[in-house]
Amino acid sequence: MKRDYYEVLGVARNTTPQEIKSAYRKLAVQYHPDRNQGDKAAEEKFKEAAEAYSVLSDSDKRAQYDHFGHAGVGGGGFGGFDPDVFSDFSDILGDFFGFGDIFGSSRRQRSHVRRGADLRYDLTIEFDEAVFGTRAKIKIPQEQPCPDCNGTGADPSVEQVVCDACNGHGQVRFQQGFFTISRTCSACHGAGKIIKKPCSGCRGSGRTRKERMLELKIPAGVETGSRLRVSGEGEGGANGGPAGDLYVVLSVREHSFFKRQGDNLYCEIPVSLTQAALGAEIKVPTMDGEERLRIPEGTQSGTGFRFRGKGVVNINGLGRGDQLVKVVVQTPTKLTRRQRELLESLDEELPSPSETVENEGFFEKVRDIFA
Ligand SMILES: [Zn+2]
Ligand SMILES: [Zn+2]
Repeated sequence: MKRDYYEVLGVARNTTPQEIKSAYRKLAVQYHPDRNQGDKAAEEKFKEAAEAYSVLSDSDKRAQYDHFGHAGVGGGGFGGFDPDVFSDFSDILGDFFGFGDIFGSSRRQRSHVRRGADLRYDLTIEFDEAVFGTRAKIKIPQEQPCPDCNGTGADPSVEQVVCDACNGHGQVRFQQGFFTISRTCSACHGAGKIIKKPCSGCRGSGRTRKERMLELKIPAGVETGSRLRVSGEGEGGANGGPAGDLYVVLSVREHSFFKRQGDNLYCEIPVSLTQAALGAEIKVPTMDGEERLRIPEGTQSGTGFRFRGKGVVNINGLGRGDQLVKVVVQTPTKLTRRQRELLESLDEELPSPSETVENEGFFEKVRDIFA
């Protein structure tokens, strides 16, 4: 039977985050394994407090716990909490006290464990790849421990010598007032050994740059500025720390015909004077191939038509956008004599725009402006 987390920390249910923190701090110091060597009961108490704190210090998890009890934060197990409490919580304790060394030297070694840096990779893709999604192969540079020297930076055929300055400890201690302060040895940079001959493979750095091929799945609907996170594909961590993440930042090439706005595609299609007047069936390119579009008799220049579901696939799975087609009537130029005669006789037949009933209001306004 699990104890109530508030009871474990000895605080009221409506207490403040500060009180939770200080209650946990007291228990953690009291029951920390470094101070209770071999005491199983203390270790259990320490774990129990750490688990309670991991839930109650997180406002989301605390709310879940308040509503649903232990079931709300993972039931019988550790509730999403890393069972490796010692490495996890010594870091939190370090934060509490403002310095990391309260529990002895084991803590100091852990502080060198560092997560690798995140990497950014800029990738340009084609318009249709963004619309439908694609797979892309990218080469990413990665730092790895040099295989020739196993990351030491020393030529393996020449033996390293123990550093005189620190007697191989990697740290030098000196007295300042009442305190003994240790500092990383500057002669060996903390390695404790002096490299007589650097490794030729990595020129002594201990690391080599390699390119790694990575295949990425790019989902449909991405656009310029979209970021894909590939976890664990950044730079490797130091001293066993986890690798960073890789962020792929996309830029999408423009299309010669389509303009994109969100999930919709826009295009303009030229039609002739007679097609617009008489009506016609025209062919319109879409991302899925040619489509037929029936434009009715008497279509005005600038009229829009919509192809449902011919736009971009929505990145959140909300279907596809539309394609919007704007019809632009082209006035003929460079007429032949015959074409001119035909248009002139057509003009005699057609009423002038000012005489048609629907345009009356418009031309009255124009007359007012010039009066
Ligand atoms: Zn040294
Ligand atoms: Zn090397």
